[in-house]
Amino acid sequence: MVECPSLIQPLLTGKANEGKSMFRSVKNHSIEYLESPLLSKCDFLTHAFCTRLGGVSENEYASLNISFKEGDEEGKVLHNWNRIAMAFAIPLEQFLVVNQVHGDDVLVIPPYGDFFSTRAELNHDAIVTNRTNLAVCIKTADCVPVFFVDRIKKIIAVVHAGWRSSALEISAKVIRLLREKYGSAKQDILAAIGPAIGRCCFEVDGTTADAFFNQKNNEEFLFSCFGTNKWILDLAGANRRQILNCDIPEENIDVADLCTSCRQDLFFSHRGSGGITGRQVNFMMIKGDAPCRVLTIGDEYPRIQ
Ligand SMILES: [Zn+2]
Repeated sequence: MVECPSLIQPLLTGKANEGKSMFRSVKNHSIEYLESPLLSKCDFLTHAFCTRLGGVSENEYASLNISFKEGDEEGKVLHNWNRIAMAFAIPLEQFLVVNQVHGDDVLVIPPYGDFFSTRAELNHDAIVTNRTNLAVCIKTADCVPVFFVDRIKKIIAVVHAGWRSSALEISAKVIRLLREKYGSAKQDILAAIGPAIGRCCFEVDGTTADAFFNQKNNEEFLFSCFGTNKWILDLAGANRRQILNCDIPEENIDVADLCTSCRQDLFFSHRGSGGITGRQVNFMMIKGDAPCRVLTIGDEYPRIQ
């Protein structure tokens, strides 16, 4: 087994991990979350990789479970969402959660107008948008939340990269979309890879490993357990490699390097819990301009006189 880096790197102290980009822990009202130092430099953004701390759910779902689908009490989940909305001063209706289905379909949301008409159309594992005041969300409990930002054109993308979507190279697909649809320059694309199950805890079978053998540089994130048909998969590493293979500069990529299964004190982990657990939310939003009252008054001013 590989030693889990997160075991020797205390998270919420801000120490250790020297020489690496360290995600910053923040407490906002009751909500404890992580921020990528790279994305924090973009002043037009609000982003958070939430932990499981700060909510009202109990037992397996303690405490900030944001999923209605895992067996938790609906009232408590709603209460948790309200806490998040209050902490970040973002109205609840401005959060968008899609049906994550472990595929590679990307939902592109235009800056204005409707973007879906039925729930059935929300089967996606990535959302790309340049719309303001829309907090696009990814639910996780081991899968990798990957965030992309075009820091110049102000476009954001959030990705749910479990092993199936990672095998489909969903991160690379989103970068291609940013490049082709929006004309994003490689040096302007930032990426932040949030907390996910680490290679310390993610043993997979031959079938899963097979899905990655055709990926370039797979020796960097897929390790054989000699003498068995088992493999160790570094999911965050696989996504980082995909991003590098798209020629995104290394210094544009932040990695949380925290294992959700080792740190169940901080995160929900599907595998670590045995299957019954909650989901944490990871979200990003482009801040909108506040309504300009001065201009409104100014327009009316001549008539008032
Ligand atoms: Zn681990």
